[in-house]
Amino acid sequence: MGGSFGGMTTAAYLSKYFKHITIIENDDVLNEILMKSTDKELLDYRCNLKCSSSIGRGSVTQNYQIHVLQGEGSKILFELFPNLKNKLLNEYGARICSLKNNFRFVIGDVLLNKYLTEDLYWFCIDRFTLETILRRELCLQYNQQQIQWISNTKVIQLIVNQSNNSVLGVKCRSKLNSHTQLDFYADFIVDCTGRYSSSTKWLKQHFNLIIPTEQLHVGTGYVSFVGERLKTGNSLLDSIHVGGNAAHAPNHNKGFLTTPIRQIKSSDPNSLGLISNFAVYCINSEYPPNDSYENLLEWVKEYLPIDYYLILKSTKLLSPLLPYRRAFDERKYVELLGRKWPQNYILVGDSMCVFNPKNGQGMTHACRQAQQLNEIFKEKYQLKYISFIYNRRAASISEECWLGSITNDWAVPTLKLIITDKYGQTKTYKRSQDSTSIYPQPKTPLFMEFLQWYTYWLIKCAAQSGELTTAFIHVVFQEKSPYSLLQPKFFFKILYSSLRHYFNLTKFFD
Ligand SMILES: Cc1cc2nc3c(=O)[nH]c(=O)nc-3n(C[C@H](O)[C@H](O)[C@H](O)COP(=O)(O)OP(=O)(O)OC[C@H]3O[C@@H](n4cnc5c(N)ncnc54)[C@H](O)[C@@H]3O)c2cc1C
Repeated sequence: MGGSFGGMTTAAYLSKYFKHITIIENDDVLNEILMKSTDKELLDYRCNLKCSSSIGRGSVTQNYQIHVLQGEGSKILFELFPNLKNKLLNEYGARICSLKNNFRFVIGDVLLNKYLTEDLYWFCIDRFTLETILRRELCLQYNQQQIQWISNTKVIQLIVNQSNNSVLGVKCRSKLNSHTQLDFYADFIVDCTGRYSSSTKWLKQHFNLIIPTEQLHVGTGYVSFVGERLKTGNSLLDSIHVGGNAAHAPNHNKGFLTTPIRQIKSSDPNSLGLISNFAVYCINSEYPPNDSYENLLEWVKEYLPIDYYLILKSTKLLSPLLPYRRAFDERKYVELLGRKWPQNYILVGDSMCVFNPKNGQGMTHACRQAQQLNEIFKEKYQLKYISFIYNRRAASISEECWLGSITNDWAVPTLKLIITDKYGQTKTYKRSQDSTSIYPQPKTPLFMEFLQWYTYWLIKCAAQSGELTTAFIHVVFQEKSPYSLLQPKFFFKILYSSLRHYFNLTKFFD
């Protein structure tokens, strides 16, 4: 169910274990435009249309927002689809950026050390092109007998057998003919329907199961757009192809991010030969304007380091300014249901866990969960145990990204927290100065306070250390576990810096 990143990677992995796979997708994703457009046409759609719903891709509303693909995500995709990387590079103008040469990243106001101990690379393309070309590749690599697409069709219900606690299939409605209802039966059903998945509702309805969930709302707001980079007159600024200032609560609630999406040949001597995606964004509801480029530039000039204003001032705007204000964190603690969870049904990607997009984790998280599912099938467990085993292992992938996302979100001054416990009781908390607020104040868990303290000093130390910056970026890329940053050599360095500061010994030691 769902034919985006989670659905496509899962289908490709599972093709090794099932004779026949069906992807049921709500949108018209196999239409002529999406399947046949040339690179230039895709870029035109990407730049000129306000959203992708006009070309049949309306369900993924973040489709045109800035997306970065982290290292582990690109590794998984390029291994699974061997022609994808070269196609994107040679036919669609994708670009690989060296972090040693073309990268600058500031968290809050701390510039990460530039002297990485190894060069790392960032694969740069826009989400719309990546998803579209990935789908074409999937269709080329697997024939209709192996992986069949049923698009324009919405899954509306599960078909279950309550007596043996299993899911047998799904009920669907065709979008072309709303009277047509279709039933599909399958041995294994994967829900990749994204952040608005109905899984919670379905499991309650059919099995009276309540999934404990946690939601954090921190007022994240994006304005994304596309533009051609022109020379600023400052070669240092022109060399920054990927990077920006990450918002970091509670004091730095506004951020900036840019990444190239196409390398172009331009006859304009002023051009840097890059078409880039930009996002000006915020947390804590301190939203950037999107009514005009001039107003956005003024906002950037007022609230962000001047470098970003200079970059944007020298950028030729090629698209509308697209806002997005519906971002949140949501975790479904599926693993807590143990063996009560039904057989033959799992959640992959956003349908299990959604993250504040500012850390750029979602696509890679979905790919990692699909890869984990492959590992479990490889280990030849009986089908009936797979959903239970998967839930435990996939939850630990979500946990890593979840901590990466919520540690700083817990520091947002206007945090709203909604918790549903295993009995289905929902409690809402809201941090505010307003004594008449109807919601109680959330209390920061001790573990979260520890992580906030640790991250604060980690970033400070990384500013001085290429080794720590390199280790940190590996974690950001999801290539290494965040727990790798707790290893003794880093832990003691971080502890030492913090104590030195605490006892005000800086001068003494220096
Ligand atoms: C503003 C913003 C910026 C982001 N930036 C980044 C980033 O930089 N890097 C990153 O990795 N991630 C980013 N993300 C997150 C990323 O978009 C998601 O994590 C990713 O798309 C999840 O993939 P998925 O396959 O799980 O779900 P989705 O991509 O949401 O796909 C769900 C699919 O299911 C289909 N569907 C839905 N309901 C049904 C149904 N009932 N029946 C049939 N089909 C259905 C939809 O049409 C869609 O194709 C960002 C998100 C936002 C909001």
